[in-house]
Amino acid sequence: MSIPSSSPVTLDDRFARHLPELAVPWRADEPADPRLLVLDEQLAAELDLDPAWLRGPEGVRLLVGVGVPDGANPVAQAYAGHQFGSFVPRLGDGRALLLGELVDAEGHVRDLHLKGSGRTPFARGGDGLAAVGPMLREYVVSRAMHALGIPTTRSLAVVATGRTVRRETPLPGAVLARVASSHLRVGSFQYARATGEPDLLRRLADHAIARHHPDAAGADQPYVALFEAVVAAQASLVARWMLVGFVHGVMNTDNMTISGETIDYGPCAFMEAFDPATVYSSIDRGGRYAYGNQPLVAQWNLARLAESLLPLLHEDQERAVELAEASLAGFPRAYDAAWSAGMRAKLGLPADSDPTALAASTDELSTLLQGGRVDHTSFFRALAVAARGDAEPTRRLFPDPVPIDDWLARWRALGPDADAMDRVNPVYIPRNHLVEEALAAASDGDLKPLDRLLEAVTAPYDERPGLERYAAAAPPDFGAYRTFCGT
Ligand code: AMP
Ligand code: MG
Repeated sequence: MSIPSSSPVTLDDRFARHLPELAVPWRADEPADPRLLVLDEQLAAELDLDPAWLRGPEGVRLLVGVGVPDGANPVAQAYAGHQFGSFVPRLGDGRALLLGELVDAEGHVRDLHLKGSGRTPFARGGDGLAAVGPMLREYVVSRAMHALGIPTTRSLAVVATGRTVRRETPLPGAVLARVASSHLRVGSFQYARATGEPDLLRRLADHAIARHHPDAAGADQPYVALFEAVVAAQASLVARWMLVGFVHGVMNTDNMTISGETIDYGPCAFMEAFDPATVYSSIDRGGRYAYGNQPLVAQWNLARLAESLLPLLHEDQERAVELAEASLAGFPRAYDAAWSAGMRAKLGLPADSDPTALAASTDELSTLLQGGRVDHTSFFRALAVAARGDAEPTRRLFPDPVPIDDWLARWRALGPDADAMDRVNPVYIPRNHLVEEALAAASDGDLKPLDRLLEAVTAPYDERPGLERYAAAAPPDFGAYRTFCGT
């Protein structure tokens, strides 16, 4: 059913028109008893959507995909992907739909997309559904990431469907309405390449250039420039994750965007005790997507993008491989530059700091943090207090403070700027025990703990009285935290 043309929303179907081979027209399931749980009003305003309308019956029908405006053409998107290193030629939106594109208040094209809206032709063995807890998890973590200034897909709303979802136990069902600058992924290119249709691959690349990297269109070699733009965007993104201790958890190539936005908050979590081997996902037994592996995995995924693009890079495929390799070599350089600049800022040091001395100092610091199993977020925030002259809060984080004393003395001699540090080191991240607490309460109908957590993490740099427990590490009995995929 369509909303009458009085709908205040206009949805284009640009992706479906340009790339019909990657778009299966599909409709969302009718929910039993839809109830809006959360709405990001600030995002609604950015999208030029009236929050009051979205909260009303027509708005909620849009947010679950059953009341789309006239002219909209919702589709399930086809894509392939390497999952934990194994290529799957046909993944696609098994439980998701692209409702269409809208133009935001600043004139940018954004995708409006749903997750948990029912089985599609890509569902394979899945039920096409999602549960309230995991969809609220994506809502909280993506809002926190955005507030931290990290590029991410956004969460507009979560609507409870009134339907039961069967997992290990029966759970309340939900649909997440997600907004992204697009849902093009490395896996989209892998799919197009695997079809063997050069024209499809070219149209996809042209679509990606127009949408995300328009400067590439004017380059001598537009498709090389597209690849380099994706390399740069991902190098910067993953450096941001590393600086804040974010572990994505399932960096399959279908979960890596062309835009450079973080996507698919499934088994993700924020690291507490600093350790490069940190893994949260229950299925990541080999630690492929451990915290410390993320830059290498990103580069591996980009190599898969390069392979997909080879026919466009040069007629001579040997030359194409050389071009791809040269461009991919830009990844470690861009990553290191972004990471070093970010670490320098976290330490409150000036832009002209000696890079060699900085690298030695941060290596030493990593060893100390890992040795002491020190809470990553608390450390950098306490460090600003040390810059102001009181090293005790920092020292207390270490079981043995003697080794850090020496490091602190050398760092303080460099004249760190404490106020600058407080602008880049968050006080509040979505800590795993607090996320679990909020989701458990929300699944039982109590949204207050979630609201309180959102209050903390949506202004992460701004320390406020009364929110102390949101700044503290998990209690020791919280144990080894585990997260799950496809929930
Ligand atoms: P993810 O790792 O969550 O990005 O999902 C990988 C693939 O599995 C995608 O093709 C999803 O659409 C699909 N998928 C995950 N959960 C479900 C589900 N419950 N029903 C159908 N498809 C699913
Ligand atoms: Mg995915």
